[in-house]
Amino acid sequence: MGIYEDIVERIGDHKRVTRNETVLEQHSKGLAYHAPRKPDVVVFPNTAAEVSAVLAYANERNIPITPFGAGSSLEGHIIPVNGGITLNMTKMNNILEIRPDDFLAVVEPGVTRMQLNEALKKYGLFFPVDPGADATIGGMAATNASGTNSVKYGVMRDQVLGLEVVLADGTIVHTGGMALKSSAGYDLTGLFVGSEGTLGVFTRLIVRLQGIPEATNAMKASFVSLPMAAQTAVEIIKAGVAVGKIELVDEQTIEAVNRYKQTNYLAAPTLFIELSGSATSVKEGTEIVRQLCEEGQCVAFQTEDDSIARAALWEARHHAAFAIQAAYPKKALLSTDVCVPVSELAEAIRDTRQLVEEHGLTAAIFGHVGDGNYHTVLAFDPNDAEEVTRIEKIHEHIVRYALARGGTCTGEHGIGIGKRRFLYEEHGDSVMLMKGMKRLFDPNGILNPGKIFI
Ligand SMILES: Cc1cc2nc3c(=O)[nH]c(=O)nc-3n(C[C@H](O)[C@H](O)[C@H](O)COP(=O)(O)OP(=O)(O)OC[C@H]3O[C@@H](n4cnc5c(N)ncnc54)[C@H](O)[C@@H]3O)c2cc1C
Repeated sequence: MGIYEDIVERIGDHKRVTRNETVLEQHSKGLAYHAPRKPDVVVFPNTAAEVSAVLAYANERNIPITPFGAGSSLEGHIIPVNGGITLNMTKMNNILEIRPDDFLAVVEPGVTRMQLNEALKKYGLFFPVDPGADATIGGMAATNASGTNSVKYGVMRDQVLGLEVVLADGTIVHTGGMALKSSAGYDLTGLFVGSEGTLGVFTRLIVRLQGIPEATNAMKASFVSLPMAAQTAVEIIKAGVAVGKIELVDEQTIEAVNRYKQTNYLAAPTLFIELSGSATSVKEGTEIVRQLCEEGQCVAFQTEDDSIARAALWEARHHAAFAIQAAYPKKALLSTDVCVPVSELAEAIRDTRQLVEEHGLTAAIFGHVGDGNYHTVLAFDPNDAEEVTRIEKIHEHIVRYALARGGTCTGEHGIGIGKRRFLYEEHGDSVMLMKGMKRLFDPNGILNPGKIFI
């Protein structure tokens, strides 16, 4: 018998095991530029026991396993580079428990962040991690995702309290628990979060929840220069006001959005700020932010508290990446993801913009200025060797610039295939410890091979 027949026998439901060409194709590629490869079989498990049965089978035969959530990761994470079995976790999408008074929920890995937030509304609670895509909680935990809310609430590693994980040999283990803190032994939950499907498959997650703030106010401030915008962001955070989000978009990116949306936003380095908290703290905070922006020589300042107007105010930030995609619809996108110490951000963005212009390219550059993470979205033709070399050089320069200043090659997207070589540059002396852990958890190397390590 082949893999397909063996898995059907173990799952007992042929409808959830497929080698349909269209489905294999859908599971063969990420959203970025990495070369596709089809899995041999796609399995849609319903329970941890089914995941365990598939892993035990694969481990005995050295068959690669690639866990798959919403498929929105950006570094080729879900491409089964050696074929094998893709485990699509989206049918395990039950919210098992919401404990409003404990500020936590127990979910299956295929629950998406928007699905969870919809269910939480009636409790006045929400789940704060907000990557641009409607990703699954399992996938977000596996990449240690974050987003615009992270300046206030932290990243996935701060939200996951406990996990049920199926190990490579099919053993089911539990880490963490429902307590908001614990000093019991090694932090295995923290280790699994960010492991990109290479150490185990999550089948249940306990996540923290937050209260929906009473009031929210959005602001947009344009500045004469990038350093003035970035420095003002630092002053705003230092002032201790209730910052919920704070994002920086450079002048050329606003121009690209204007071309794409036929808008007329002031083309200048712009801060997008959201304050959230009690009505009084937001009101007082807004005045402090206005004052700090004026001191930072801001040339335009706008504020909105109504939810629709707030969304309109943030439009230029949300369209930044799409503006590049729309300008080059046939090209592939590379989204760099470095993170530098906050005080280095303005200079890093300036350096990147200069580099992009020297190469005669168009790019969107925008950053989570609150935590020093910024993205450069570049369009290129993956079939044009000269263009690929140019893009690789730019990517290398941006990463090395960040590493030289104590930063990291990836603030939130993860290593996947695309950043493997940079992991060695960043963590040369500790990669061997990471590899040792990988061998301990997955001695046969069946879990998402070809990711994180070269
Ligand atoms: C428009 C857009 C905007 C984005 N913005 C952001 C952003 O602001 N911040 C950010 O962090 N990311 C962002 N991303 C990237 C992406 O949304 C995140 O990486 C997200 O966490 C991936 O979740 P997913 O469910 O799509 O996982 P997938 O892409 O399906 O998988 C990601 C990784 O998780 C593993 N995995 C999936 N499920 C499990 C499981 N149950 N157990 C173990 N491993 C598993 C996979 O093997 C893979 O290695 C963006 C993507 C897009 C398309």
